[in-house]
Amino acid sequence: YDDRDGKIWMDGNLIDWRDAQVHVLTHALHYASSVFEGERCYSGKIFKGHEHSLRLIESARLLDMTSPYGADEIDAAKQAVLEANGFTDAYVRAVMWRGSGEDMGVSARKNPVRMAVAAWEWGSYYGDAKWQGAKLDIAKWKRPSPETIPTAAKAAGLYMICTMSKHAAEEKGCSDALFMDWEGYVAEATGANIFFVKDGEIHTPLADRFLNGITRQTVIQMLKDKGLTVHERRIRPEEMADFSECWLTGTAAEVTPVGQIGEYHFQVGQTTREVAEDYEALVRS
Ligand code: PMP
Repeated sequence: YDDRDGKIWMDGNLIDWRDAQVHVLTHALHYASSVFEGERCYSGKIFKGHEHSLRLIESARLLDMTSPYGADEIDAAKQAVLEANGFTDAYVRAVMWRGSGEDMGVSARKNPVRMAVAAWEWGSYYGDAKWQGAKLDIAKWKRPSPETIPTAAKAAGLYMICTMSKHAAEEKGCSDALFMDWEGYVAEATGANIFFVKDGEIHTPLADRFLNGITRQTVIQMLKDKGLTVHERRIRPEEMADFSECWLTGTAAEVTPVGQIGEYHFQVGQTTREVAEDYEALVRS
């Protein structure tokens, strides 16, 4: 996978995919000083690309790193990668991290902040079974309190338990895991936000303690524009018994219907179908 054709943008230059390497003493590798973005390009245009560039800079700032690039430069880097690889429909991954340098320890002010952008073709996140409704496990780990870690950052360190929980879910035949937060309320999946339907109204966890996804914000606005009521609130896991529909939102997941979470079952109903179709139309408009 490392030794293949393609171009990656790294620290200001387009280089060959196989040459996009970092040193083993990279600070980020030891101490998780890394932030990233996941974006999708549809028909040659990155959906909300500039918002993603701004979030990357903000995530870096939350981790005490100053982005060496402005949002416009990051936008240009992403565009350059798409053009160099000849992609019109692709997933775009930007990553910014603290590199190797003089400091090998936790404190590493003098080590350079570095950045790369790669892109690849990536279809449906949960595979072909999308319309059957994804099956989710309930994660054993909890989303942490904002007092323990900067939960608003899209930071590598927040994903350690995501990988562990997703592996555990896959071993049980599920496609993802749903996290509760440290207080026991419903939070998010390992790479996506969650929505529920009850009596024609929408309920979604308040995003003040985990990533407030760009797709989440887009979908909430779409629902409100359709005249639907959206409740952003704390949701107890037992409430899932009373919800009729459920879906996930995320750049990679887009709008993915959910059929089951642990012991709770949901239909892939009218609201879910409309939201998924409207989102699909919006990203391509
Ligand atoms: N939560 C987590 C943990 C994620 O990794 C993602 C994907 N970036 C999301 C939510 C959804 O965010 P977005 O809609 O901005 O892709």
